[in-house]
Amino acid sequence: MAVNISAYNIIKSYLDEQHVQLVAVSKTKPVEDILELYHLGQRDFGENYVQELVEKAEKLPKDIRWHFIGHLQTNKVKLIAPFVQLIHGVDSLKLLKEINKQAAKSNRVIDCLLQVHIAQEETKFGFDEEELKMVMEQLEDSALNNVRITGLMGMASFTEDMELVKAEFQTLKAIFDQYPKLSILSMGMSSDYKVAVAEKSNMVRIGSLLFGQRV
Ligand SMILES: *Cc1c(COP(=O)(O)O)cnc(C)c1O
Repeated sequence: MAVNISAYNIIKSYLDEQHVQLVAVSKTKPVEDILELYHLGQRDFGENYVQELVEKAEKLPKDIRWHFIGHLQTNKVKLIAPFVQLIHGVDSLKLLKEINKQAAKSNRVIDCLLQVHIAQEETKFGFDEEELKMVMEQLEDSALNNVRITGLMGMASFTEDMELVKAEFQTLKAIFDQYPKLSILSMGMSSDYKVAVAEKSNMVRIGSLLFGQRV
């Protein structure tokens, strides 16, 4: 079994101390691995692919809180709307409207994070600061009653340059601070979660340190 129990215990107690929530990113990993952490008390798990998430959710305990952290396509929202806990990467108003529509069908209010583009790579998704401002304004007078924007999510550049990563997290934190109603700041992964926590992230998404490298 590839689950690193001692890494989990160390990371978990460090994050508890810092009052940071841990989302264990289990994409591509088998349900047995998820259950191992579940039995240690972990309840928040993150997945990137809709089909995979739906299949795992069916097989696993119902008190798991599933986080969707991948790039969500509008035509797949309906598959996860009945049960998803938090959607991290909302990057368009169109997607948010679809989440609202599907949440209403399930009689739910779905918590969402807006993704902010902070990395240098063009390939990463998300709003820039200006776009975010526009979306937040539009949301104030839109009647999207079945979604709740609870925070922001961002991914730093894929680099060994931790000064750059730190600067990107600081940028995101500064944007986050402009919206006092938001409570969740989802930033930090295996390679940079300590930098993220130092910059006041309060939710990290960690995969490979817990479950081993993905192939
Ligand atoms: C895969 C993934 C993670 C986890 O990455 P690790 O480097 O394995 O910790 C975190 N966030 C997002 C958005 C991901 O896609």
